[in-house]
Amino acid sequence: MSAFHREKVLSVKHWTDTLFSFTATRDASFRFQNGQFAMIGLEVDGKPLLRAYSMASANHEESLEFFSIKVPNGPLTSRLQKIKEGDTILVGRKAVGTLIADNLLPGKRLLLLSTGTGLAPFASLIKDPDIYERFEHVVLVHGCRQVSELAYGEQVVKNLVEDELFGELMKDKFIYYPTVTREPFRNRGRITDLITSEQLFEDIGLPPLDIETDRIMLCGSPHMLEDLKVLFEARGFTEGSHNTPGHFVIEKAFVER
Ligand SMILES: Cc1cc2nc3c(=O)[nH]c(=O)nc-3n(C[C@H](O)[C@H](O)[C@H](O)COP(=O)(O)OP(=O)(O)OC[C@H]3O[C@@H](n4cnc5c(N)ncnc54)[C@H](O)[C@@H]3O)c2cc1C
Repeated sequence: MSAFHREKVLSVKHWTDTLFSFTATRDASFRFQNGQFAMIGLEVDGKPLLRAYSMASANHEESLEFFSIKVPNGPLTSRLQKIKEGDTILVGRKAVGTLIADNLLPGKRLLLLSTGTGLAPFASLIKDPDIYERFEHVVLVHGCRQVSELAYGEQVVKNLVEDELFGELMKDKFIYYPTVTREPFRNRGRITDLITSEQLFEDIGLPPLDIETDRIMLCGSPHMLEDLKVLFEARGFTEGSHNTPGHFVIEKAFVER
């Protein structure tokens, strides 16, 4: 048995010069928990060329969705960005990852903090009805440099909120907070600063960070993760894992090579 499923690309959408998303068929045997990632890629010269990708679709959906960067000269993404409907991609059979609600201690407010393509696992998680059972509030923060880079997240949120059934479930619980660092926008600044200054909480009209009630998932650049880990640990928050649930969990959106 091959280590991969061969899936057909169903649709591709380019959001900016550096970001695109695509959907693909999903083998019925491919199981994952919302928030997890798998190795996906293309066959190049008869060999698999694979990278880690978070599923941006939820596990109850029939097809798979991914949200991708385009790295200039990146071995995979210089090719992946050219895929078209009907092309074949490889999807590893095994899904893994730490951004799982079970890795968190029970709490009242879930903060999903992301930058760039770090939004992808949260695009999956916010479609999970279980999240709204576990938490009174779910706050999705997405930080980007430019306003145009928010477009995919805005679309995912719009589709959910406008969904007849899901919209009702999320109502009064879900808060979307996009923020931009390099252009004028209604919310501005780095996530670390927005938390330290308490601006984020002021803007969403909820109380500041509280270890008793807040549980956090982080997915972004290595730099953003480092800063936020220091910030949360200084306030007594502990990192959770599969063996030991904690106040926060971390996944890298990418690794520096
Ligand atoms: C757990 C995990 C989950 C991931 N999920 C996703 C995902 O959902 N979507 C996605 O686009 N990528 C994701 N990545 C990154 C992905 O694995 C690849 O690095 C990316 O697709 C680029 O592949 P490449 O071969 O073109 O370039 P690589 O050789 O893999 O990367 C070259 C350089 O590009 C930069 N880079 C790579 N990925 C990104 C990114 N996403 N954002 C900003 N800079 C980046 C880094 O500086 C890296 O050193 C994830 C990585 C990890 C570890």
